[in-house]
Amino acid sequence: MSVYLCLAMLPSIAVADPLGPNFCNMVEDDQTRAPSNPGHFLSDSEHAYGYIEGLQAMAWQNKPDYPHWTGSTEDREKLRKLLEDLDKRDPGDKATAGSYAATFDAMVKRLSRAMPTRYEDPNSIALMCTAGRLVEAEIVKDVPAFDLPYLGTLPTPTLNAMARSVPGETTEFVVVNSSLFLFAHELGKIGLATVDIEAQGDKIAIDTSDALFNRLRKDPDFLVRTSKFFEDYAKQRKIVAHARPRAFDDHLLNALDIGLEAFVIGHEFAHIVLHHTSRDRDAISGFGQQTSSSDATIRKLWGEEAVADLYSTAIVQRIALDKFRQSINGSIDDELGEFVRYAPVLFFQWSEQADVSRYVFEHGAAPPVPAEKDRSAILGFLSSALDAQMKTIDTTTMRPLPPREEESAPPIVRKIGDHPPTWARKMLVQDYWQSHAPAPKDEAEISLGAVAVAMGNHVESLWSDIQPLWIRIESNTLEK
Ligand SMILES: [Zn+2]
Repeated sequence: MSVYLCLAMLPSIAVADPLGPNFCNMVEDDQTRAPSNPGHFLSDSEHAYGYIEGLQAMAWQNKPDYPHWTGSTEDREKLRKLLEDLDKRDPGDKATAGSYAATFDAMVKRLSRAMPTRYEDPNSIALMCTAGRLVEAEIVKDVPAFDLPYLGTLPTPTLNAMARSVPGETTEFVVVNSSLFLFAHELGKIGLATVDIEAQGDKIAIDTSDALFNRLRKDPDFLVRTSKFFEDYAKQRKIVAHARPRAFDDHLLNALDIGLEAFVIGHEFAHIVLHHTSRDRDAISGFGQQTSSSDATIRKLWGEEAVADLYSTAIVQRIALDKFRQSINGSIDDELGEFVRYAPVLFFQWSEQADVSRYVFEHGAAPPVPAEKDRSAILGFLSSALDAQMKTIDTTTMRPLPPREEESAPPIVRKIGDHPPTWARKMLVQDYWQSHAPAPKDEAEISLGAVAVAMGNHVESLWSDIQPLWIRIESNTLEK
């Protein structure tokens, strides 16, 4: 499959959404102003947040174990303990000793100001604002009228996200399931631990051979840790950390988190910018969802997903090269362009394994693997749906083009239904990653790019080692 697309080819349509009292805008205001009253919720005065709060209230109903900040003495003690634990990670380092605990008062102050809703998790909304702002900054270069939609998170243990309008209004909002943040971070830690990277004085040594990975693949502790991660996801539990990152990994993890989050948020923003009618029900599909949509509807939905994926991939590429490829201070953060540019591929690669793990848990068997002819039928259809979607608007006159003669959907596509499969979307963004490779900056950037690719392949191999064991265990459990 070959796809050629750049942001300039996409229609630049102004978004008629006025600037509202968006929480992310307020965060910036609050840095210069006195904080608002503690316990003040924007949902009491803002219709969009009131609507998001309603969605959150439903999602929270059966999830008492998902932590969120209430400001109680108990919450404060938990935060203090967390900061002290972070400091203990590096007891030998005098320069940073006690540096996390010292931020306690400032953090409580920040957490005590107005929040979007009663159910919003402060950490997740802060991450969303950061990623949302980065994506917004790229979109406004092409679509100056674009403004950040309202943002919120749901405590649902899937990697889904959605862009919608508040019913009866033009106000747009994007909700991301907060599992994404934990998923990206924990799997990032596991993937990174399989690559031999070490700080040696002011240099970084990267061993690109698989020597370390081959050792870890036989290490029962490491396999258990990886299996526990997938178990948390498959059983729809909160994903918890089963090991700490190596001291040096934080830089890379931070950058990767930003890339993965920006990709998911960029996909949702793309649906808004490009005025897609269907928006999301979910970002990641399961297996063989049965629907009865017409061929034309399936084609439109697949086309919109494919265009949103590529739009967002292009945005992540720009963020990677704008923010993580600089030459000012020669720190590792300036060498992460290629590393971050791979995030969209990693997202789908890892989502695929997460989907499979949930399927194995639920069915005690591996999911059906499509035959080669079905795979090419699916890819061919996705490619033509993308092509058709790109041609729905004349990019010079900005007018809709007459609908084209449409070929029918192959039976395998009808069987899959409204959402293109994750593996096909992975191939689409992988194709973009390969065909849009910029001239490399230097050796360090290339090596760090190879680290991201190795992380993806290693996690894939780890899962393929674990899967047969899971099938044995789950098929026995289900029989009983
Ligand atoms: Zn979508």
